[in-house]
Amino acid sequence: MNNTNNINNDRKKKILIVEDEKSISEILTYTVNREGYESECAFDGITALRLALEDNFDLILLDVMLPGMDGFEVCRKVREKLDTPIIMLTAREEESDKVMGLELGADDYMTKPFSHAELISRIKANIRRYYGENRIPAAGSAGAESDNIISINGLLIDTKKYSVSKNGKEISLSKKEYDLLEFFAKNRGTVFQREEIMEKVWGYEGFYGDLRTVDVTLSRIRKKIENNPAEPEYIQNKRGVGYYMS
Ligand code: CA
Repeated sequence: MNNTNNINNDRKKKILIVEDEKSISEILTYTVNREGYESECAFDGITALRLALEDNFDLILLDVMLPGMDGFEVCRKVREKLDTPIIMLTAREEESDKVMGLELGADDYMTKPFSHAELISRIKANIRRYYGENRIPAAGSAGAESDNIISINGLLIDTKKYSVSKNGKEISLSKKEYDLLEFFAKNRGTVFQREEIMEKVWGYEGFYGDLRTVDVTLSRIRKKIENNPAEPEYIQNKRGVGYYMS
């Protein structure tokens, strides 16, 4: 489904820039404004959280090291209330930072320094995913309900409500977890390399993404849907190749 028109015709998208270093904040502001986005800046974590909850942002760029409250904490608190896309900006190439951000519900992360082109590409991909598949209701509601339901061994995925349940019990998934699960469910039996998954589910050019993102998101899904995440029944590894849903 392609909803680019809805995005273009809508109001200007608004981005919250959370970064305590003035020089970086200015560059980020310049870059997103030049691309046609509106923006607002916060220079500490507490202000960032207040603005994020008060105002209706379409995306949040969130630095990790911030005075007052760090970016991880801001991310966690925002996620309690909102599903706004969050891109964490990490200063170090620390694996643990990336994993932590994703575990707290960030959609993406970028390691400083990054190019303007990469930043804009990531912003566009995240906003497109969010509006393309999360916010705009599927066209028409006349179809039989079963058209929207994918059923796999007790796991029910409702692609219209973006909800998942197992044996009648609702399972709470983040946006990306849902996207990834639905992707596998719609392509059962096909083995996908992580590069392909990154491109299809995250929507990036392959070389921008970090493939660990796929593994981390998948392991979070497994913890939620599998009886024993160490011996998954739903999404399997194909050693040396990638992942598939049987
Ligand atoms: Ca900082």
